Amino acid sequence: MTLKSKILVIYTGGTIGMIMNPETHALEPFPFKNIYTHLPMLHLVDAEVSFKEMLPLIDSSDTTPQFWVRLATLIYDNYNDYDGFVVLHGTDTMAYTASALCFLLENLSKPVILTGSQLPLGVIRTDGRENILNSIEIAAAKKEGKPRVPEVCIYFENSLFRGNRVYKDNAEHFNAFHSANYPKLAKVGVHIRYNDTFIRQTSEQSLILHTKLDENIAILKLYPGISKQAMRSVFNTEGLRAVILETFGSGNAPSNPEFISILEEAVQKGIVIVNVTQCKGGGTVEIGRYGASVLLKKIGIVSGHDITTEAAVAKLMYFLGEGLSNEEVKHYMGVSLRGEITV
Ligand code: ASP
Repeated sequence: MTLKSKILVIYTGGTIGMIMNPETHALEPFPFKNIYTHLPMLHLVDAEVSFKEMLPLIDSSDTTPQFWVRLATLIYDNYNDYDGFVVLHGTDTMAYTASALCFLLENLSKPVILTGSQLPLGVIRTDGRENILNSIEIAAAKKEGKPRVPEVCIYFENSLFRGNRVYKDNAEHFNAFHSANYPKLAKVGVHIRYNDTFIRQTSEQSLILHTKLDENIAILKLYPGISKQAMRSVFNTEGLRAVILETFGSGNAPSNPEFISILEEAVQKGIVIVNVTQCKGGGTVEIGRYGASVLLKKIGIVSGHDITTEAAVAKLMYFLGEGLSNEEVKHYMGVSLRGEITV
């Protein structure tokens, strides 16, 4: 007799756990102890499922780095008692949370699957039902006695993604997420087809929880005509330690000397600047492909390769929180720690 996998479902808020208040007709979170009323087929799942609410339940727009640390700590504290974790989360910032968890949980060797829905569970056409049931099945799946997907993932509308590779790109369709630079880890149809070659291998070392994130970073998105004042106001932010510079195409930026000198001053002042392209697909920063990016390298801006902005936020907060020096941060932005970049 094989033992059933034990799965912990952590409910953090978002659309998925809502029902319509019959009097006000507004969507409100329902107490998760009533989950079996809304999802009776949960009784049939081939796993032992437990639930925990992480209070207060939030709209994921209210997510903070402190929330990421609380969630990572909750998983860490329950790590030895479960075979896998499913996190129910609002879709708006799910890609940021997935990225943060992958850095906070070093040597993860069990699945942590984030999911949510576009329509609440209490609505008849909800996509939440399939998303929860498939996420539990994937979190419970084993191959040769080992978890099938031992990494932080997002499951949404028939697709399993590496969590630090996705972004939300649709607020209407059920397939709300996309991973332009990394293949899906599984596709769900009649069967669940795992894409084994792209799934990370289980770490043999024990799980390490990191709890320090430094929020002193900013994102500066370039656009034609960006003013010196706008740029200076970002770089003059008190305590600022790093900036994600969202550039054009394969990592290009204006070549005018005034623009370059503002960036150069910031680098000399000790601010780490990471070049991340605004292009989602095929979007890797290739410094030197065009002259417009060569100058950026020359003044000490580092390439983010094909990282998403969401993962770059988490990676920088993690490095700075861990107390890495500027030179170390610059070096490790070019190293794939959790499969977040292709190098
Ligand atoms: N605003 C909601 C949230 O991100 C949307 C959702 O759950 O999909 O919490």
